[in-house]
Amino acid sequence: MILRRLSPLLALALSVPLSAQAIDFSTAELQRAKALQQRLLTLDSHLDTPANFARDGFDIDNRHDHNALSQVDYPRMVDGALDGGFWAIYTGQGDRTAAAHLRDRDAGLQRLLEIRTMVAANADRFELALTPADARRIKADGKRVVFISMENASPLVADPSLLRFYHQAGLRMLSTVHFANNEFADSATNPQGPEWNGLSAAGKALVLDAVKQGIVIDQSHASDAVFDQLIAMLPVPFVLSHSASKAIHDHPRNLDDTRLRQLAKAGGVIQVNAYGGYLVDPGKSPQRKAAEDALSKRLGGWEAMSIAQGAELQRGEDALDAKYPVRHATLDDFFAHMGHILEVVGPGHVGIGLDWDGGGGLTDLRDVSDLPKITAWLLRRGYDEKQIAGIWGGNLLRVMQQAQDHAER
Ligand SMILES: [Zn+2]
Repeated sequence: MILRRLSPLLALALSVPLSAQAIDFSTAELQRAKALQQRLLTLDSHLDTPANFARDGFDIDNRHDHNALSQVDYPRMVDGALDGGFWAIYTGQGDRTAAAHLRDRDAGLQRLLEIRTMVAANADRFELALTPADARRIKADGKRVVFISMENASPLVADPSLLRFYHQAGLRMLSTVHFANNEFADSATNPQGPEWNGLSAAGKALVLDAVKQGIVIDQSHASDAVFDQLIAMLPVPFVLSHSASKAIHDHPRNLDDTRLRQLAKAGGVIQVNAYGGYLVDPGKSPQRKAAEDALSKRLGGWEAMSIAQGAELQRGEDALDAKYPVRHATLDDFFAHMGHILEVVGPGHVGIGLDWDGGGGLTDLRDVSDLPKITAWLLRRGYDEKQIAGIWGGNLLRVMQQAQDHAER
């Protein structure tokens, strides 16, 4: 009521809560954190970076600072002491015609090829990992770890038997669905709601085939009904490669406390995400959304942009911040989610999957070079080296080992 009497601008300013005292770390804390990460295997479970591999102007050896398309490259991985992680074959969910399924099939194979090509072209610094032991050896050899994952199984709709080929080519983690429903599963965010009440028959068959091959199932983006079915049907634990807490921010992409406990009881792991819109309500106005869409369209669309246009996109978004302010998520918001999840399931079931190059990142965690801030926070909270090693990848690799052991049996 009171807000109505204020000028629209002031009312907007008041409705956008600013974090009064942003979390800060001393140089000594960050140095200690980085040194710890350099000793431990430090993995992120959801890197969308392969979307950049074929982009005009992208070079994994160059820093691409302050670029809306890039938060991960070799120099910044070294800066932030990131050893690698799961590099995603992501396919946007388009329409579901037979022609689209063939396009998705080809797009998935193309992305797989781009990942393998990047690794082959940089064999002195990157190596494909197929097992947890591989990751540890690659780190010991001073190289970066490339596990391959798939986000959205739409490339498998046309021919699910392609999963065997993907596994042979290195795929070790699979998610069923993305923003919208597909032939395999319901999405948590489908505008028209559920279609299968969880997994379709084809989805169940796909998931069981993946488990048979030792591929870890990733529940991120799928609906809660899919989660419940995975809990009931899987003989091995599964993960959420980039998700957050529903108790902290009530968003369908986030997991509630009851399901968090079920996940942990089943031996699974949730990798905490840094996608702003899942951490807080950005309060994005329709005008801002329209201006963002127009900006992206002017630059040729996200898929087709060059790295130079990514820098232009960044400048454009910064300008929009002044014109149509939104509430950007900060490290404080991320730590609210992470802290809550740690409280609910304990450090043995938590990891890190920040959605780099896929929309992740915070005002004070702009790219992978900032990762020691997370470790510094964990140290401040009193977690010991063994627990932090679990959070930075040990827990995830435990689930992976279980999946691979099960497949061998
Ligand atoms: Zn995602």
